[in-house]
Amino acid sequence: MAKISEGVYFIQGRDDMIPDSHTYIIGEPSSNDLSIIDVGLTGKGNYKIQSIQKEGIDLSSIKRIIMTHTHLDHIGCIAEIKNHIPWAELWVHSSEGKLLEQGDDRAVYGMDMFKSMCLMQYGLKPDSFKMTVDRKLEGGEVLEIGNMVWEIIHIPGHSMGGIALYSPALEILIPGDVIYADHAIGRFDLFGADAEELKSSLNRLAQLKIEVLLPGHNNIMKDVPSDYVKQVARMWEPYLR
Ligand SMILES: [Zn+2]
Ligand SMILES: [Zn+2]
Repeated sequence: MAKISEGVYFIQGRDDMIPDSHTYIIGEPSSNDLSIIDVGLTGKGNYKIQSIQKEGIDLSSIKRIIMTHTHLDHIGCIAEIKNHIPWAELWVHSSEGKLLEQGDDRAVYGMDMFKSMCLMQYGLKPDSFKMTVDRKLEGGEVLEIGNMVWEIIHIPGHSMGGIALYSPALEILIPGDVIYADHAIGRFDLFGADAEELKSSLNRLAQLKIEVLLPGHNNIMKDVPSDYVKQVARMWEPYLR
């Protein structure tokens, strides 16, 4: 686990045949009010819990899991994580949260072919992702958690309930799979994706002052150039229609 800033920690995903998302921990440790952002792929939960403990963080201080979105590579190991912190609440954007509660896993697998592959590969049951969501986010919330302020921004396009967490004080953005380092953006061919919405979401993020970009996969980015998101949005515009 690496410290990005006071109250922001990074646990690198360990990609398998399928990628494993990065996990971030936010909140000042002394607050005893920490949040896990995205848990990761099925089977990748235990080492993440160990990384947290190695840092000297007491698991009892983790109060919630916030999902940037519910694709398998982000939510797959939620049962493993919940085993260690059964009290933690689950916060998800309402549009994907409702699906989880209904046992509708289209937003988890993204496509049918991928679902049947994963059921075999990971021994997942058809109802593995039917679960209660403790808080449904809409976007626009200003969360005061862990002695920090994080804005929730709804950024659909890669998935319908994609959210970013943004700290205006630290100028840190956690955008899930909507935008990455190296001028990459998330795919927009899965269930609930929409190229036009992805374009609007990128334009929305381009309005923010971003110093540090903490995406769902691959490199993280410090000292982000001031027009980075704008550049990426412009570069991809021809494909997003
Ligand atoms: Zn995704
Ligand atoms: Zn992902």
